[in-house]
Amino acid sequence: MSPAMEKQIEELKKQLEKQCQLNQELQKQNKDLEKRLKEKEQHLQELQSQFPDIEFPSDDGNETEAEVRKSRAAVIAPEPLPETLSEISRNTVRKTFSETSLIVRAIQKNDFLSRLDDEQTAMMVDLLVVYNFKPGEDVIKEGSEGDSMYIVAAGELLVTQGGRDLRALTTGDVFGELAILYNCKRTATVKAKTTVRLWCMERQTYRTIITNKSKKRREQLLGFLKTSRTLKDLNDVQLSKIIDSMEEVKYQDKDVIVREGTEGNTFYIILKGEVLVTKNINGVQKQIRRMGKGEHFGEQALIREILRTATCTADGPVTCFTIDKEVFEETIPVEHLELFDDSKVLQEARVPAKSSPLSSTLRFKDLVPVQYQEGRYQGDPVTLGVGGFGRVELMTTVNHGKYYAVKRVSKKHIVAKRQEEHMLFEKKILKSTQCDFIVRLHAAFKDTRYIYMVMEFCGGGEIWTKLKEVGRFDEPVAVFCTSCVVEAYAYLHKKNIMYRDLKPENLMLDVRGYVKLVDFGFAKEMVRGDKTYSFVGTPEYMAPEIIKNQGHDFAVDFWSLGILIYELLVGSPPFSSSEPQKIYAKILDGVMKYPPYMSEAARSVISKLCRPRPGQRLGNTKNGIKDVRHHRWFGNMNWHKLRMCQLDPPTVKLIRKGPSYINFDRFPLDQTKADEEFSGWDRDF
Ligand code: ATP
Ligand code: MG
Repeated sequence: MSPAMEKQIEELKKQLEKQCQLNQELQKQNKDLEKRLKEKEQHLQELQSQFPDIEFPSDDGNETEAEVRKSRAAVIAPEPLPETLSEISRNTVRKTFSETSLIVRAIQKNDFLSRLDDEQTAMMVDLLVVYNFKPGEDVIKEGSEGDSMYIVAAGELLVTQGGRDLRALTTGDVFGELAILYNCKRTATVKAKTTVRLWCMERQTYRTIITNKSKKRREQLLGFLKTSRTLKDLNDVQLSKIIDSMEEVKYQDKDVIVREGTEGNTFYIILKGEVLVTKNINGVQKQIRRMGKGEHFGEQALIREILRTATCTADGPVTCFTIDKEVFEETIPVEHLELFDDSKVLQEARVPAKSSPLSSTLRFKDLVPVQYQEGRYQGDPVTLGVGGFGRVELMTTVNHGKYYAVKRVSKKHIVAKRQEEHMLFEKKILKSTQCDFIVRLHAAFKDTRYIYMVMEFCGGGEIWTKLKEVGRFDEPVAVFCTSCVVEAYAYLHKKNIMYRDLKPENLMLDVRGYVKLVDFGFAKEMVRGDKTYSFVGTPEYMAPEIIKNQGHDFAVDFWSLGILIYELLVGSPPFSSSEPQKIYAKILDGVMKYPPYMSEAARSVISKLCRPRPGQRLGNTKNGIKDVRHHRWFGNMNWHKLRMCQLDPPTVKLIRKGPSYINFDRFPLDQTKADEEFSGWDRDF
């Protein structure tokens, strides 16, 4: 090799080395940037969950106008069928000790699952089944409907969204957990990178087991309570209320549960374990008896001032169900055992009807659509709102010039989403309802494609829209809106109807500024003392007992009332996140943060309505809804005048004057036409 060539090679080598260094540098920078991008994304997500109302730029710039609204959709999973229980129980899969501990650790690490109680965790461990996947196989696909959750037993998986890699999953990671609560669209794809072994649980399994467990447990507790001499005169509804107020308390071996000679104010039922009862006789602790599951002690403490006459000590781990005298008195009036004496107040509430409930004279062909008078949709029919199920249009009659809001829902869509019962019930309830705080239904029609509900037009617009416009309501406005809801609740609960979908999106203002409940898709009629086990509502407004599948009743409406007050005063609900499972985790934690500007009375009413135990919630204790009305936050409300619609609503300042549709967002024309549907479910509609 010539020296010149050697020199050239040396030169090239140097250049190559430099290039390599540069490459490495670039790679490092790239990684850094990636890391920073990730951090930014995470930060954005956190911010988004803190300030859910602020619009963040989204990647897909093709949002339609209706999607920009971002109002919150409700979710639902019906009550599971009891017949499937034995089938499911047969499917328990034995797990080794290390498998069990892997699963338990995975559950404890997960934001949502870790909030489930011990029993629910144990059930999950028992019922998880194994699935194997080969490298490259999809476990879940973005956009598909989910019905299972998974825990990675072994292997590696990749999560992608819209083709972008999000993260890797490996042993002990949980994914798809929202699907065990209800049917939801998968937001990402999960693909096996290596050979993968997964623990899997289907929604149907989980819900059936949990529901049946909860039902059995209520029955069992009811049985226990019935053996108490003090409580034996109470009926099932009252006993059920007591169960709702009771709390589970755990003791360790040798823990003293009650001590002789001290003041007693708690009643206990033993759920698990054994309790030793001892008495001090001449300075010596003497055992007098041993109590086990189902036995109870301290019942006298509920009705009298007593001093404990013996000491009760846990012998091994013990779980008790307890209720304190104070809570008991809130639940059951000791003197006279009457639960709901709201009747008088409610009688006053029955204002004479101002219009006939279902006018037989209104004919479908008399209705004509109102059209936008100006703007880019000029000449198109006015759409007032688009919900999960239908479209609400503004119509008028040729002769009278009266306005109506007509809700039109595709029959095919109803059948596809199995909402037949809900639609029929919504119509049935609205038809039989005459309350100034609930939207009136004037008529209902159907054809081969749609069902139509002709409702009173609430010209003031949605509370939701107003709230977004002003950020948050001042206290008088919030008190007024809430009071209208309280009156609507009193009316519905009296008729044994739960509402179950309270949120600003379902509250409308009439032109005077009075608030009315609309959207009865989730309402349900139920006997007092019963529970239902369906999963319904809007995540931010859901009570803990719904999330835990423990069975729920009218008490969920009071929980959501507390959330509503919070949202009206603050502008966003207390438990929020862009991911529903995080919302549920927060609700189960129950930590509510109040902004400094919120008054003490508001904090008090919210915290009393949002008590985790349904039996302790304001509105659901012995005086019923009266207790809500009497709370000092409503101190300036004249309930009688409100019921007579004789107040000057402070909400008028939120209502704009102008064309009939001025208080509503504008929606483009719907040019699609639903398919015909002939199954006949709507015979009685
Ligand atoms: P969701 O997704 O909430 O179940 P939905 O399809 O059941 O929706 P509604 O909530 O009843 O429909 O109505 C959708 C929207 O239409 C409301 O949010 C509101 O903006 C408007 N709307 C409904 N009823 C009336 C009314 N009586 N007067 C004026 N606007 C109304
Ligand atoms: Mg709605």
